[in-house]
Amino acid sequence: MTTVILMGPPGAGKGTHAELLAGRLGVPVISTGDIFRAQVAEGTDLGRTAQRYLDAGEYVPDEVTNAMVRERLAAADCRPGFLLDGYPRTLEQAAVLDEVLGGQGRGLVAAVILRVDQEALVARLLRRAEIEHRSDDTEDVIRRRLQVYGDQTVPLINLYDERGLLREVDGSGEIHEVRQRVLNVAFDLTPAE
Ligand code: AMP
Repeated sequence: MTTVILMGPPGAGKGTHAELLAGRLGVPVISTGDIFRAQVAEGTDLGRTAQRYLDAGEYVPDEVTNAMVRERLAAADCRPGFLLDGYPRTLEQAAVLDEVLGGQGRGLVAAVILRVDQEALVARLLRRAEIEHRSDDTEDVIRRRLQVYGDQTVPLINLYDERGLLREVDGSGEIHEVRQRVLNVAFDLTPAE
């Protein structure tokens, strides 16, 4: 069973490369950001709760996010494994993921992190804002999202590093270059036939 998480600051390219990586691993992508945006678009209760956090660049509270992920990971398509894009983002979420995986009798195979320096991220996110019109891609909110990432998510990098699970990918440069680096990691993570 291939259970992998994809980490990296906003704008590092997680969304761009998640499908490629997951496709090679033969597992679905579970993107908490995409699920929240879909719920906002549908106007569900969860969407209404999540929207103000998304718009402000803050994390949706752990209890809300964890409940949503627990339910999603219990679905049948996750049985062969999954690639989590954008989860966990806090130490509490990491603990819940350990618990969920433990309950399923499995563990994490790898934590892949896309690394890109801060100014390149801001530039990328501003460019994306023009194309996608995401409500959380204004410069103030972008800077806040990077700050929240530094405060709450960077500690997870050490956690997974200590467990020997970290796979660092240089996320700078052109998309095709990063793509090749992601493919190399996918190859390493694919179980031999
Ligand atoms: P993303 O598309 O992954 O950048 O996520 C967009 C927004 O969704 C984030 O800025 C948060 O407001 C929210 N979000 C996504 N994943 C999480 C998570 N694991 N924990 C809390 N909030 C999240």
